[in-house]
Amino acid sequence: MTGSTLAALRNNNLATTECYSVVIEPYISSKACDHLPTFDVTREASLKISASSATPAPPATQVVFFFAKHSSDAKTGEQSFTWTAENPVSGVLTDVSFNKGKSKLVFRLTINGVAYVAKRCYSLGGESKVSILANRDQLTKEGITLGRTNFFLKNFKQECDSEGIEISAFDVTDFALVREGTVTTESFIPSPASGLAPSEYSDLLEAEKAELAADSNILSSITWLIERERGDVQLRKYSGTLDHPSYSDKQGATINLFQHYVYLFSRKTLVLADIQASESHDKHSHTSILFDLMSHTINGESGAGDHGEQGIKSFVDQHNCVQKCAQMGLEALREREDGESEDEEGTSG
Ligand SMILES: [Zn+2]
Repeated sequence: MTGSTLAALRNNNLATTECYSVVIEPYISSKACDHLPTFDVTREASLKISASSATPAPPATQVVFFFAKHSSDAKTGEQSFTWTAENPVSGVLTDVSFNKGKSKLVFRLTINGVAYVAKRCYSLGGESKVSILANRDQLTKEGITLGRTNFFLKNFKQECDSEGIEISAFDVTDFALVREGTVTTESFIPSPASGLAPSEYSDLLEAEKAELAADSNILSSITWLIERERGDVQLRKYSGTLDHPSYSDKQGATINLFQHYVYLFSRKTLVLADIQASESHDKHSHTSILFDLMSHTINGESGAGDHGEQGIKSFVDQHNCVQKCAQMGLEALREREDGESEDEEGTSG
């Protein structure tokens, strides 16, 4: 295997390599790869694995993963994930989560000495435990949202470039969808991190097992969304599920402009929400990395938290155009908006 990045893990025999490198991996360029193992991965990996460390390594389990091939249509932004049994990869997954969001638990994962985080859903709003298939469907939707956002962001950057609009640097996290599995079909045991008792997997309906299988000779079970470990980075939350604040600083205004752009670019069918970003590994690039995004869509089916038309309306009602919106020539979202903006600017003088 050449290199240790998600790209290398995922792109085996892939005809659409260009899609990957352009659409979902601006962050891991060949240039960035040169320094990442030194700054980040080696340090992280040795911390986790080394027995000589003062802090004992957390309990972890060797797991075999199958990767989904991800493609993004460069013209339409349509996303697809195809499960394959090719080139399973072995990794070490911690048994216990180290972090937790609204819906997902986060575990540490090491593959070929490179540190990743692995996320799975533990709550989708209800009381009940998230099923294997519901977890798969939700993480697939999150992957689609990340891929779409990357598609929007690429077009957005081109538009800003051609209009001479100065923006802050953002990228979307590099990620992959993977599944735990085995090539020895009878003895599969889900990892401790999966939260599945062996019986929960063996009791699945045959049809559900078949739906999960990457191919007929291989079992696969819990789906994970994995990303490169970002270490101790600063996080910034730009918007909530239904809250879309306006910002006057450059990074915030870039996100405000991007939100407005995405809404119009998607022909008013999609609004990004829960926008948050972390600083890059690369101290010199100052690029912020967007992750754990969600969206509101017309049909309300883009994943947990999608409030459908009500969610879209929340953005339309709250978005106050920043100067860059006018600079880009974006149509105002509300009739009164121009007046509001002028009033705000007028009061400061
Ligand atoms: Zn605007």
